[in-house]
Amino acid sequence: MTQTLFRDDAYLRECTATVMAISEQGLVLDRTVFYPLGGGQAGDAGLLVLADGREIAIADTRKGKNEDGQPTDAICHLPALADPATSVLACWQQAGVQVGDRVTARINWERRHRLMRFHTTTHLLCHLVPQLVNGCSITPDYARLDFSMSDPLDKEALTAGIARLVAAAHPLVVGSISDAELDANPALVKSMSVSPPRGSGQVRTIRIGGQGPAQMIDLQPCGGTHVANTAEIGAVIVTKIEKKSASTRRVVLGFA
Ligand SMILES: [Zn+2]
Repeated sequence: MTQTLFRDDAYLRECTATVMAISEQGLVLDRTVFYPLGGGQAGDAGLLVLADGREIAIADTRKGKNEDGQPTDAICHLPALADPATSVLACWQQAGVQVGDRVTARINWERRHRLMRFHTTTHLLCHLVPQLVNGCSITPDYARLDFSMSDPLDKEALTAGIARLVAAAHPLVVGSISDAELDANPALVKSMSVSPPRGSGQVRTIRIGGQGPAQMIDLQPCGGTHVANTAEIGAVIVTKIEKKSASTRRVVLGFA
């Protein structure tokens, strides 16, 4: 089990941690600031700094898997391999990293902040386009959200809508609801492709805007990392709208 520091504070750039396991799946720490691929959001990249000061580049972060291929509570840090033929395990062994070692885990903050800006923008899109989502991908360079709908969407109108919500500087609040509350309010789940982060009895939620119905912009279950205020998103625009199928409209986001 890895303690997920990024869920409580998305702005943490580094932490000290202890190596708990090393395998072909990657290196597992007792706690980490690295977000693992999930909910459409890419896994973090960054550095692992060893006790002697050596730095090992981390290329990606994934959830661990058990023998049945089901995700576990472990978060696996994957090294950047100089030679793709090298095994992950061999890479850690060559670096002399061992279970019990104390290390510093440091994310590539500039890359993560781009992911946070895009992820929050996809939630703004859910407000602007009140339709179910059936696909989502958030990368450092672009993001895309697929809506289950057949009506056309207007690129300029959506870009203007995002700019308006960014200029309004709406705060984001991380909260939680119980599984039972979520079951009683199925409309909170806007995604058909990403299931809410259940498992502990409590589901993490992201609210944009104030508490009252009039101030609320969006509220949905989400395990991702977000900016604290929509003003921090800056200049994000809709670069493309694609008709993916008769019943799917894809909105692609980019930085202006
Ligand atoms: Zn989300």
